[in-house]
Amino acid sequence: MQQDYTSSSSESKSIFDKDSKYVMQTYGRQPVVLESGKGSLVYDIEGREYVDCVAGIAVNNIGHCHPYLTEAIKKQAEKLIHVSNLYYTEPQAELAEQLVNVTGMDRVFFCNSGTEAVEAAMKLARATTKKTDFIAVEHSFHGRTMGALSLTYKDIYRAPFKPLVQEEKFVPFNDAQAIADSITPNTAAVIVEPIQGEGGINVPSQDYLKEVRKICDENEVLLIFDEVQTGFGRTGTWFCKEYFGVEPDIMTMAKAIGGGFPMGAIAAREGVAFNRGEHAATFGGSPLACAAALASIDVIREENLIQRSKEMGEYFRGELSKLTTDGFVEVRGKGLMIGVQFDRKCADLVEHGRRNGVLLNCTSETVLRIAPPLVITKEQIDRVVSVLEQA
Ligand code: PMP
Repeated sequence: MQQDYTSSSSESKSIFDKDSKYVMQTYGRQPVVLESGKGSLVYDIEGREYVDCVAGIAVNNIGHCHPYLTEAIKKQAEKLIHVSNLYYTEPQAELAEQLVNVTGMDRVFFCNSGTEAVEAAMKLARATTKKTDFIAVEHSFHGRTMGALSLTYKDIYRAPFKPLVQEEKFVPFNDAQAIADSITPNTAAVIVEPIQGEGGINVPSQDYLKEVRKICDENEVLLIFDEVQTGFGRTGTWFCKEYFGVEPDIMTMAKAIGGGFPMGAIAAREGVAFNRGEHAATFGGSPLACAAALASIDVIREENLIQRSKEMGEYFRGELSKLTTDGFVEVRGKGLMIGVQFDRKCADLVEHGRRNGVLLNCTSETVLRIAPPLVITKEQIDRVVSVLEQA
């Protein structure tokens, strides 16, 4: 059935009106009210279907409302939703063990979002090294709270909020020597996204992170990988660090960790750990969030979603590289973390996608981000490519 994606019903309009009246208008929202989802598809309140290439921004890796996840959340919610971290719970201990297994790190700390994970990583680096400064890279995105914002590159995000925790200390991406040249006796850590997400899906050269690791070791500086966006199969490995064969001292996680349930965490190697009382979060590692994350990790394993991300990513990128759409330059990425570079602004493609049943967004003005659930099918990929081709 041909669906009309161009108009909005009065039901949708009344929700837009409430939002504009009562919600602080910080988001540039698409005019669509999403109501339900299954796998890689979402539906709006008017019953229209969309292939979701946004996935909550690399969150819904196992697909929307996976029955195994839904059931695990339901079961845990009936037993215990929240208790203080003054007590032990089984889901938290189990998840800690699972995360140590999948990350190859030694210990974890639980929080509730990506930016909180970055804050925790910053505090941990300062506490461990007794040094204060951080080196971040150009076009980085690490979050919007004051500490994480200090390490986030875009001036429009930073300018209204100065003074930040530290003033600009950004070096060019993919330039290890620039990091070496910027280290001072006060440098606590270097932070990088193994593949930059918000900065435009930028993949560094294969040796970059190895060189950065070496420079950090030589200077007794910690290395933080921000895997908030690249984690949990997004790039075709459990974590993107595996693709580059480099181990950080601290890594941040969030987004896909709970299959859509809000959660964040850091993992660190032995010797890099908070002392009692140095950090805490009321909701960090709640039984409900941990049950969701355990279920999500199970699904990734059981359904071989790591391999699937790799294979579908290759297929998707292959198909996208044949695009003849106006202004198309190239396709970048790993697994299902994909950026399509244009030589012009690509906001009209987002609009075109929505009007043709495909949700997309831009990570920078000229890069279209494609980050669907890892369960996306070839048929759905073909649908997305043909919509872009018509644009
Ligand atoms: N780090 C990276 C690499 C991210 O992509 C993001 C979110 N886009 C964040 C941190 C911040 O995560 P959150 O929005 O959950 O605070």
